[in-house]
Amino acid sequence: YHDRDGFIWFDGEMVPWRDARVHVLTHALHYASAVFEGERAYNGSIFKLTEHSQRLADSAQILGFQLPCSVDAVDRACEEVIRANGIVDGYVRPIAWRGSEMMGVSAQSSRIHLAIATWAWGSYFQEEARMRGIRLKTAPWRRPAPDTAPTKAKAAGLYMICTMSKHAVEKEGYHDAMMLDWRGQVAEATGANIFLVMPDGRLHTPFPDCFLDGITRRTVIDLARARGIEVVERAIRPEELANAREVFLTGTAAEVTPVGEIDQYRFTPGEVTRLMIADYEAITGQTRSAASAA
Ligand code: PMP
Repeated sequence: YHDRDGFIWFDGEMVPWRDARVHVLTHALHYASAVFEGERAYNGSIFKLTEHSQRLADSAQILGFQLPCSVDAVDRACEEVIRANGIVDGYVRPIAWRGSEMMGVSAQSSRIHLAIATWAWGSYFQEEARMRGIRLKTAPWRRPAPDTAPTKAKAAGLYMICTMSKHAVEKEGYHDAMMLDWRGQVAEATGANIFLVMPDGRLHTPFPDCFLDGITRRTVIDLARARGIEVVERAIRPEELANAREVFLTGTAAEVTPVGEIDQYRFTPGEVTRLMIADYEAITGQTRSAASAA
């Protein structure tokens, strides 16, 4: 990712991609004092931009630091960087972190940096996998309790177990890991939330008390309710996957991704999944494409 043309917005300046570097004694690299966002641009405009910028500011606040600029300025910087790179449909990655002024666990007066990168990006999961439903396996790691880690922040440190979990299941040929929480309840995938269509026709999704309440998750809940589909947020035990008729993931990168398999359980992407894919495509202003499972 580092060796390419283009620009990265870096502390207020548009820096050539290859020159957007940090020092090895950056606090964030040693102690995970970084928060980030993942956004998508559709037709040149970033979907739910202000919600993402606000979440970035909130994540920083949770980790005990403040962004170097306002939420409004983050919005404008994101728009500037997609324009500078000529991105029409792509991904946007803002990141804020503690710099290299202080080394040690305590780094009260380190400088807070902000950078925003963007690149053209298609579907997160491969097209073919998407049509059949992706294959998940339960992760070897569990989401921590809210008093064990800052679970409401989109903080770099929380992704250590996500990368380890995803690598572990990828070795066995799976697309992603399904993570349970510390109680053993269904939580989410490594970078997306999870929904189950139960035999009663209702959409069930874990109550987000120890993982990210995704912006896509909330969008899909609204889209489902607008269709008259009831949505239930509750604790879900992994054994309940046996009763699920359809399962899908939601996330900025994943959008609405059908799931075909989790461990011993099998699902067939059906009507509710198709409706949510179509409605999400419509609300993001996508033209219908091969990416659709419909
Ligand atoms: N959970 C995790 C761990 C994630 O990384 C993401 C992606 N940001 C999500 C859920 C989905 O969040 P969103 O819909 O806001 O992208």
